[in-house]
Amino acid sequence: MSAHIAIIGSGQLARMMALDGIPMGMRFSFLVDEGEDTRCVNALGNVVVRCGEAGDIYRQLGEPDVVTVEKEHVDIDLLKGLQAHCPVHPNPDALKIFKNRLQEKLSLQSLSIPLAPFQSVTSREDLQQALRSLDKPIFLKSEEQGYDGYNQHRITRDNAEQVLDAVSFAGAWVAEEFVPFEREVSFLAARGGNGDIAFYPAVENYHRNGTLLRSIAPAPSLSASQIATGHRYLSDILVKTDYVGLICMECFVVGDDILVNEIAPRVHNSGHWTAKGALTSQFENHLRAIAGLPLGSCEARGISGMLNLLGVTATAAQVVDEHCFLTLYGKTQQPRRKLGHIVVSGQSHEDVEARLAIMEKQVYCA
Ligand code: AMP
Repeated sequence: MSAHIAIIGSGQLARMMALDGIPMGMRFSFLVDEGEDTRCVNALGNVVVRCGEAGDIYRQLGEPDVVTVEKEHVDIDLLKGLQAHCPVHPNPDALKIFKNRLQEKLSLQSLSIPLAPFQSVTSREDLQQALRSLDKPIFLKSEEQGYDGYNQHRITRDNAEQVLDAVSFAGAWVAEEFVPFEREVSFLAARGGNGDIAFYPAVENYHRNGTLLRSIAPAPSLSASQIATGHRYLSDILVKTDYVGLICMECFVVGDDILVNEIAPRVHNSGHWTAKGALTSQFENHLRAIAGLPLGSCEARGISGMLNLLGVTATAAQVVDEHCFLTLYGKTQQPRRKLGHIVVSGQSHEDVEARLAIMEKQVYCA
């Protein structure tokens, strides 16, 4: 019998998982909220609009063998309810930690993993206190529902009063010191149900306005000891949370140190290069892990780069060539929206960086 995987969510990550699982004989269904855009997954499996209790949903999904997620902002109680019917990976207790910035930071701190100094902020007084005790600039990030620079304020000496007046304290925040990083990197790994962990080569990332724009892998300038440190942190996190599936740890590099910024408990944008540039893509390894199959090799084929299409699109006729691959998500165009990405391959970092620069100019300055 082929494995039936139900995915909570219907965006590009769900799409790319399904597109890698279907050739392995897997079947997919997708659970969405009322009104959620399903364009990315239409025709890839049954789409179920959430209604009723976990048992009803499990049946409407077609009694899947395993449930997984494409996003961290999920209803943990629903996942716990679904656990009564089939395995849910990653487990809901781990997702509960990673969907909340404060819980995530406290959990990482308990593992002695270095982070930027931070404080919990739930009121105007808390924020005033944080402004007095943390070095400015400060990033004020919502505890939940914040990603790609959304629900974030950068507070400097000049705009502190303005932000104090503008921020709503209906939800909780985390105030975090600005990190004068030299580079941003991410570590991706898959962990199987038997405890095996497979690490992808570390990735170097460049963000624009808080959103990932470019990645290059293997990361050009990490030392062997920095890579070992990243692997140690990530494997401690995976073991502590008894995690099964693909995970991404986003980090700042400051001198020899690695500071963890945040954890994404799912396949991640900075791993899209693996679809062309690694022996096993991050999507396939996530599916292998949650379906109880052996993990595939994470070895890189040469050097890869990835350019996000943020609010801009491209056609195959414009961009593809022997080293350049286009993936579109089938979404409608909106400013800043992730509409697709381009992967380029090469034999050297210089080669890949040059190709990425050409592509960036072509799609953003067209
Ligand atoms: P996040 O939503 O936490 O992933 O932040 C998005 C991006 O904003 C990061 O990838 C960084 O480029 C930048 N950023 C976030 N937090 C900090 C910080 N404490 N110091 C410096 N840059 C930051």
